[in-house]
Amino acid sequence: MILRRLVVGEYQTNCYILGSEETKSAWIIDPGTDGELIIDELTSLGLTARSALLTHTHYDHIAALTRLKEHYPDMEVLLGKEDAKGLDYEVIKATILDRRFFTIHEEALKHLPKPNDYLIDGQYLEDSLLSVIATPGHTPGGRSYYHREGRFIFTGDTLFARAIGRTDLPGGDYPTLIKSCYRILELEDDVRILPGHGPTTTVGDERRKNPYL
Ligand SMILES: [Zn+2]
Repeated sequence: MILRRLVVGEYQTNCYILGSEETKSAWIIDPGTDGELIIDELTSLGLTARSALLTHTHYDHIAALTRLKEHYPDMEVLLGKEDAKGLDYEVIKATILDRRFFTIHEEALKHLPKPNDYLIDGQYLEDSLLSVIATPGHTPGGRSYYHREGRFIFTGDTLFARAIGRTDLPGGDYPTLIKSCYRILELEDDVRILPGHGPTTTVGDERRKNPYL
């Protein structure tokens, strides 16, 4: 198993590559904004992007989808259904707060790929060994992806090291987010948390030290 973190773009978004040496395929968890960087990394690892798994569809996590889909036409785009409208250019255009980001990435945001499928709570993605955990609150369709064998979970912008996701953006809901965070904290102490921004932490550390929980 290959696991890499790339920190990309204006918001220092974490993009993760989960690859398999056997199948030479990779799952991209939140592409972020820099498709070229991901393509270079995958190429140097000898991997092809099989699926993009989105924790949610905020623009700083998805803009690179367009470049990736162009380079890997067979790549699937998978996410929580309630977040699908976040891939719609007109919706992004109407709601985006950061006009500068919008200007820089407008072409990419205009041509975002359509979702291939929606992921539901409890679903097991056999090829990647990831289980889907619905973690709404930061966005309505938030998803986390848990790798039991590898002892890690991708939490997107739901749970960070010593912080939690913001809920003041459209569709955000504070009580729902808190519930989702506690669901993640039900995992064992040693499980590594790989968040959408900032450093890696563990379930045990967050259960003891996160000031918001
Ligand atoms: Zn976000």
